Amino acid sequence: MPEGDTIHKIAAFMAPLLEQRVANRVHAKRVPDASRCSGQQVTSVLARGKHLLVEFDSSTVVRSHLGMHGSWHRYANAEPWRKPKWQASLEVATDSDVFVCFNAKEVEVLESEGLRKRIIDTRLGPDLATPGVDVATAVKRAREFIDGDALIGDVLLDQRAACGIGNVYKSEILFINRRLPHTPLERIGDEELTDHYRLAADLLSRNLGGGKRVTRFERDRAGRLWVYRRRGLPCLRCEAGVVASARIGRHHRGTYWCPACQS
Ligand SMILES: [Zn+2]
Repeated sequence: MPEGDTIHKIAAFMAPLLEQRVANRVHAKRVPDASRCSGQQVTSVLARGKHLLVEFDSSTVVRSHLGMHGSWHRYANAEPWRKPKWQASLEVATDSDVFVCFNAKEVEVLESEGLRKRIIDTRLGPDLATPGVDVATAVKRAREFIDGDALIGDVLLDQRAACGIGNVYKSEILFINRRLPHTPLERIGDEELTDHYRLAADLLSRNLGGGKRVTRFERDRAGRLWVYRRRGLPCLRCEAGVVASARIGRHHRGTYWCPACQS
């Protein structure tokens, strides 16, 4: 499952290979409009939360979102693909490489700077993986865009408030901060909400370097995550707890917590 840091890593990998180069061919399966970018120079490749934005020199931006099942592959031009062609949602080819996004959840072509700005402003909160991110804005947007009865587990995933927290970080953050994921937003104060976003920013930035995702930095053998996918195992923090899990919230996403030390 791609998280915010995954998209940053993809962007960091793609940028030097695409930026300032001409995309001979741009093709999106369900968005014929994307082909207009063929023959244009790529000006930037950047991650915004879970969205990857490829910008061309006419200020056209192709936005893709991997969703649950998407992935990006890079191939040399004549190399056979490891997935079938019909699963390709978006292709961007230069004269040496082709980048293929398979099974994207969304691909969209944005016409201008104005549109790009609008989509970022209304749909996407600040990116928590950006150094020095303003977490107060995330808290403000959470109050503005999300209903008070939404569960905190869902709130952290909501990209309108802040970008970058995926399902793994959600459970881990709430465990570390001792908060039950079932708690409604209206019962959580600004100070605590700030703590959750600040912790997310810290974890995301510590994980940008590559390697396996780590939220537990104890140097022992118990693992690099606190609760995620540890259902039925003893809590790594308290004596009494056994990690529980359930599909909770609006999107029934798998969620893990310790019933003994999260309240
Ligand atoms: Zn516990």
